[in-house]
Amino acid sequence: MTAYLWNPPAVQSLPVRGKAERLPINRLFFVGRNYHAHAVEMGRPVDKSIERPFYFTKAPQTLVASGATVAYPPETSNYHFEMELVVAIGAPAFRVTREDAHQVIYGYACGLDMTRRDLQLVARDKGRPWDLGKDVEQSSVCTEIVPMPGMVIERGEIALSVNGQTKQQSNVDKLIWNIREIIADLSLFYHLQPGDLIYTGTPEGVGAVVPGDLIQGRVEGVGEIELRVGPAE
Ligand code: MN
Repeated sequence: MTAYLWNPPAVQSLPVRGKAERLPINRLFFVGRNYHAHAVEMGRPVDKSIERPFYFTKAPQTLVASGATVAYPPETSNYHFEMELVVAIGAPAFRVTREDAHQVIYGYACGLDMTRRDLQLVARDKGRPWDLGKDVEQSSVCTEIVPMPGMVIERGEIALSVNGQTKQQSNVDKLIWNIREIIADLSLFYHLQPGDLIYTGTPEGVGAVVPGDLIQGRVEGVGEIELRVGPAE
């Protein structure tokens, strides 16, 4: 037994639909600009013929279960929602081909990539890392994992509302880089492991929330997500 000065951080985990065991989380990957209309609204259109996807990561400790109330985070006045389809990796993958990519899928979830947009845009425009804008405490919201081993989701409505008003409405078939392409490309850079989550990007319509807001989202065939924004600390 290793002796530690204090208790090590708890393993982050998510419930799995239909199972008693929870899915232990390894890493959290996020795809940037993966819907054309969102890339355009951010002022950075994507030309797939000459560009590759890009990624950022968040610490697993930023994970929050759907249904939570989170404090409005510090040092921002423009906290944004981003509704996303999440892929859960269930097997090791390094340099996996698009054709084989389905073999490493464990399942899917609905996710929110909450973002301090003001800080992200300052970082982007100054060529600095995105961490202060993206790696925000309690900003990686996720539902239970729905087991769909080996299944590739190619279409399905993705939508989000704030206080009952629709803000985002699109379809997963509009992903610029689809699920197979993302897994294959990301596995060129990382040895993907069971428990890695990939947030696949958000469609257009992102916007700010304020304390008291109720965010509700869904992905057709996967599930529904909810987050309440509480007062600032
Ligand atoms: Mn995102």
